[in-house]
Amino acid sequence: IAPPKGKPKWLRVKLPTGKNYTQLRELVDKYDLNTICTSGSCPNMGECWGEGTATFMILGNICTRSCGFCGVQTGRPSAVDWEEPEKVARSIKLMGIKHAVITSVDRDDLKDMGSIIWAETVKAIRRMNPTTTLETLIPDFQGIERHLDRIVKVAPEVVSHNMETVKRLTREVRIQAKYERSLEALAYLHDQGVNRTKSGIMLGLGELEDEVLETMEDLRKVNVDVLTIGQYLQPSKKHLPVKEFILPEQFKKYEEAGLQMGFRHVESGALVRSSYKAHKHIH
Ligand code: SF4
Ligand code: SF4
Repeated sequence: IAPPKGKPKWLRVKLPTGKNYTQLRELVDKYDLNTICTSGSCPNMGECWGEGTATFMILGNICTRSCGFCGVQTGRPSAVDWEEPEKVARSIKLMGIKHAVITSVDRDDLKDMGSIIWAETVKAIRRMNPTTTLETLIPDFQGIERHLDRIVKVAPEVVSHNMETVKRLTREVRIQAKYERSLEALAYLHDQGVNRTKSGIMLGLGELEDEVLETMEDLRKVNVDVLTIGQYLQPSKKHLPVKEFILPEQFKKYEEAGLQMGFRHVESGALVRSSYKAHKHIH
């Protein structure tokens, strides 16, 4: 496939507006709050913040892995900040967030892979924000059950783990991960009684339609409830190139196929990110 030139018109976004958005933006700037929405300049900020949803990253901003699509820096991460759970909980309170998505870098350097801070963060958020609902977008924790159990125990409304791409491209797209291991982690979470499990993939990395459908089927086989499908965009020239801009009607086709397969929710569209419309996914 020839590399596409220029972004198609459906990927152009309006600048976020709205009272809620402006107020939150002021708070985030004033208190230097750490949201992925702002650090990744997500195109959906106006919409998500307007609905009281935001995504927070924990365990620092340096990752032990080096996925080819991801803009996060790879290297030796900083020491764990045991105050972090309280800080995140306070940010959520200050921002008046109704539904928070928490995610992290991968911490393969830590014995617990960061799972203790993960659990403490959920507990601190619950203590300070008893009505806020939560999605934890977790790493694979290398599939180790005792780490996954810490997440299950604190019972977030939604637990998500992203496949990111189809089976054939997994090695190229997220070199330290394994397709089967991610599926097994999702299966385990479901079997342990997690309220809702969720996963996401990006398109435009060279995957074929049959491969996308196969991944969707694989996710349904392990009872994943919610699926997000979005367009991959290259964070910098050093990252994997965009092989294709997927047409809006193709996204629609996947959405319909996903609902047929039995997903409770499918968000499928060029600008969809894994936490887009996340507040809907608790039901
Ligand atoms: Fe934030 Fe996710 Fe919404 Fe983007 S899609 S604004 S990262 S909550
Ligand atoms: Fe980025 Fe997550 Fe991969 Fe780390 S594990 S490089 S944060 S996608």
